[in-house]
Amino acid sequence: MVQGQASNGFTGCGDHVGAQQNLVGAEPRIVFVGRPGSGKGTQGKRLAERLDVQYLSTGDLLRRHIASSTALGRAVARVVNSGGLIPTLLMVAIVEGCVDAGGYVLDGFPRTVEQTSTILGHDCLAPSLAIELFVPAELVMSRLASRGRVDDTAAVARQRLALYERETAPALDLLAERSLLRRVDGVGHLDEIAARVWDEVRPLMQASNASPAPASN
Ligand code: ADP
Repeated sequence: MVQGQASNGFTGCGDHVGAQQNLVGAEPRIVFVGRPGSGKGTQGKRLAERLDVQYLSTGDLLRRHIASSTALGRAVARVVNSGGLIPTLLMVAIVEGCVDAGGYVLDGFPRTVEQTSTILGHDCLAPSLAIELFVPAELVMSRLASRGRVDDTAAVARQRLALYERETAPALDLLAERSLLRRVDGVGHLDEIAARVWDEVRPLMQASNASPAPASN
């Protein structure tokens, strides 16, 4: 069973302001996108801590299914270990079952145009911001080689990178059309990258429509 799925307190959709507005008084919903090995997990967790919201990684959720060695886990393993993508309906159901109403940082989702259009119209999942961690392809290949996960072998990593260019890059265009996408340079020291991410998030946390101070007379 996916950890947190049965008792996650998922109660509904909260009071979300929607795209392109500031996040004052609304729960932050931030998705991290970027090539495999671009550091989404590391930076996503740091941002979630800073915002004090739930951090969810679709890769981790799927690996928990795999570890559970249920029929679903075995089916998920076949897809993940060959570098493929889990079907949208299943992926959305898994994420919906785990997300709580207080806002989120989501890593690894959405990954396709279909997933993106599904969550853009979704009351509970519609993101307020997407951060693209940009790392050149050559650099992520060497990062993946040193990470050593089952799905990080050179052949599977190449397949995942190709899938990223084919399936995820067009999804970024859709997020950009909605003015939701911010590209952040993902190369450098972890603290520097975290500061760049925060520079994109911080403006949304500040009231942009605060009333002017009353004039004194
Ligand atoms: P990385 O970002 O390094 O590729 P993840 O841990 O995010 O690794 O994902 C591992 C694998 O899980 C992916 O290669 C894919 O098979 C599957 N997966 C993760 N997120 C999704 C998603 N949103 N849609 C479909 N499959 C996914």
